Amino acid sequence: MGNWENNIRKVVPYTPGEQPNQTDMIKLNTNENPYPPAPGVTEVLRNTDTDALRLYPDPAAKDLVHAIAGEYGLQDDQVFVGVGSDDVLAMSFLTFFNSEKPILFPDITYSFYDVWAELFRIPYERPALDEHFHIKKEDYFRENGGIIFPNPNAPTGVSLPLSDIEDIVEHNQDVIVIVDEAYVDFGTQSALPLIEKYENLLVVQTFSKSRSMAGMRIGFALACPKLIKYLNDVKYSFNSYTMNRTSIAAGVAAIKDQEYFLETCGKIIETREWTKKELRKLGFYFEESKANFIFAAHKNCPAEKLFQALREQYIYVRYFPGGRTGNHLRITIGTRNEMEVFINFVREYLRKEN
Ligand code: PMP
Repeated sequence: MGNWENNIRKVVPYTPGEQPNQTDMIKLNTNENPYPPAPGVTEVLRNTDTDALRLYPDPAAKDLVHAIAGEYGLQDDQVFVGVGSDDVLAMSFLTFFNSEKPILFPDITYSFYDVWAELFRIPYERPALDEHFHIKKEDYFRENGGIIFPNPNAPTGVSLPLSDIEDIVEHNQDVIVIVDEAYVDFGTQSALPLIEKYENLLVVQTFSKSRSMAGMRIGFALACPKLIKYLNDVKYSFNSYTMNRTSIAAGVAAIKDQEYFLETCGKIIETREWTKKELRKLGFYFEESKANFIFAAHKNCPAEKLFQALREQYIYVRYFPGGRTGNHLRITIGTRNEMEVFINFVREYLRKEN
């Protein structure tokens, strides 16, 4: 037998168990939006021209690019779209990072960064967050092959001020800095204004969270035209990364309904603040989250046991075993009603356990 297994890229995949095939549960485990997409999306899907599905979609997804550019006050050549921001980010790793120098991203952060780095054979180093889960900007002033971090960070929910982001981008003008803004619409200042000033900055966002469309898979990047062109050149060499006709049309409808978008984000922020208050009353501690989730721990309550007890009630939250955050749960913000059911269960559970 040969040693072929030694040469295979080995990565730890995302757990499929986080997306169970049932609907009668309270799903607070993967940061989806509890509200439906904008009404215009339903309209578009109802009126889908199914005959047109015979034809390949526009590989450049020009209608969606144009709609996003219009919404953000940009030119079309400053926008790149992809099949979810995971796709956009993976494409960005392929385009902008290489095997020569380690890229930098925080320890702790979004778990896909090391997966892509491993898959694409990009070396990486992971500066640790401080004791309050904050990114220390000075850690990113050393030599590197590129930088990526989410703002706010995941799974901590902690935001980095725009001035710190600018310092990091400014100090690293020989490499690309990617700011992953998957959760930016829940109360964090976007780095978008900086793209006019810095050619080395790529801002990545998604329709999965604030626009309630995780099931449609739409993500996008905003940057100077040069970076967008590099991304498109790589994208067009992989036919598998084009968006489908339905997503393009639904995405256009979603981005145009700014009023609905602001209203649902507002509701989620309000429910997040209510949930924080209730969690504090129950003795949980956490850093200030600006995302649609809270990363919380309790001195007298092992996270894993509570996680299991919640699952038995079909309330799904996220538990990341081991390491520095092994006693934390990440709780996505659902509707007010869902959060009340969650809080009531936890209150009862703590009463019985302690
Ligand atoms: N970035 C971060 C930080 C995330 O948490 C997620 C969602 N899990 C993504 C990117 C990817 O989201 P999507 O592919 O649905 O756009």
